[in-house]
Amino acid sequence: MALARRHDVAAEVGTSEASAMALAQVVAFGRNHPELLPIDLSSLLRRLALPIPLDNFQRTLADAARDGAIELQAFDQWTFLTHVGSLAPATPTRRFVHYCPSTTRAACRELGCAKAHFVPITTRKTNVALGDCKYLDQCHRPESCAYIHYRPEAPQPLPLPTPPTSATAVVGDVTALDWHSLGKFDAIIMDPPWEINMKLSYATLPDAAIQGLPIASLQDAGWLFLWVTTGKLVAGRRLLRHWGYTVVDDIVWVKVDQLQRVAAQGRTGHWLNHSHEHCLVGQKGLAVSAARAECDVIVAAARESSRKPDELYGLVERCVRAGTLPHPR
Ligand SMILES: [Zn+2]
Ligand SMILES: [Zn+2]
Repeated sequence: MALARRHDVAAEVGTSEASAMALAQVVAFGRNHPELLPIDLSSLLRRLALPIPLDNFQRTLADAARDGAIELQAFDQWTFLTHVGSLAPATPTRRFVHYCPSTTRAACRELGCAKAHFVPITTRKTNVALGDCKYLDQCHRPESCAYIHYRPEAPQPLPLPTPPTSATAVVGDVTALDWHSLGKFDAIIMDPPWEINMKLSYATLPDAAIQGLPIASLQDAGWLFLWVTTGKLVAGRRLLRHWGYTVVDDIVWVKVDQLQRVAAQGRTGHWLNHSHEHCLVGQKGLAVSAARAECDVIVAAARESSRKPDELYGLVERCVRAGTLPHPR
């Protein structure tokens, strides 16, 4: 289970992370609303509802202007954003990558094809004549497997988000933990050890035991993101309601393999191969606010057993902005 404490994040406002986030939003705003430029910086700050003071915002934008990312113009006591440059936004986004259906550049017939390709990973053990491993990155023995595996042609162009340095890991038995000492949280991501009809490498809990966890003590108002297995979709909704949440949404994670195709050999599922997972979104003590800039589908690689995609953390950070919850604490 991952928890984000409001105060930890709020303390970081004004750091380079907050500046990068602000700049990315300014660049996105400039691109989406060229008709509104020029715009003076104080109205821009109000419009974007960024939780940073105006002078920090001005400093961030002045730095970006020196780097050529944006253009500013001073007039009387106002500074206007006049133009957004062609540089990539400071906060990396990886929304659309077009993968070449030919997989490798060697097999691609399109001259100077701009789509992403893959490189076969071959070892002493590989027998190229056998073709692709049907498990690819889900292969249990990639070092000794005789089939072909792949990696992207270029290294992944954008880094994955790194965990915040202010985070503290608490390792313990959830059934015996002193939950009240943890404090209150604005956002909770929960991946309970659901009991499923399968032998698992970790201890599980029956639904009633999960329901009995004192989740209510962790949050007076905020969001709970609850990962559920397909068989626990109904139980998950019931649990959220039991803990006092309104179920407002359901995020779907579509798992992809090394070749960025739907991972149809996920090795889970009793009837069909399970190539997706659900994360239910519960909201409590707040007026339901739309986060329409976000998408309810995450397309990301399946990694180690149980490990969820990092993309969810970015989504939560953007939806539950530090210091924007309408309740004092
Ligand atoms: Zn191609
Ligand atoms: Zn293999």
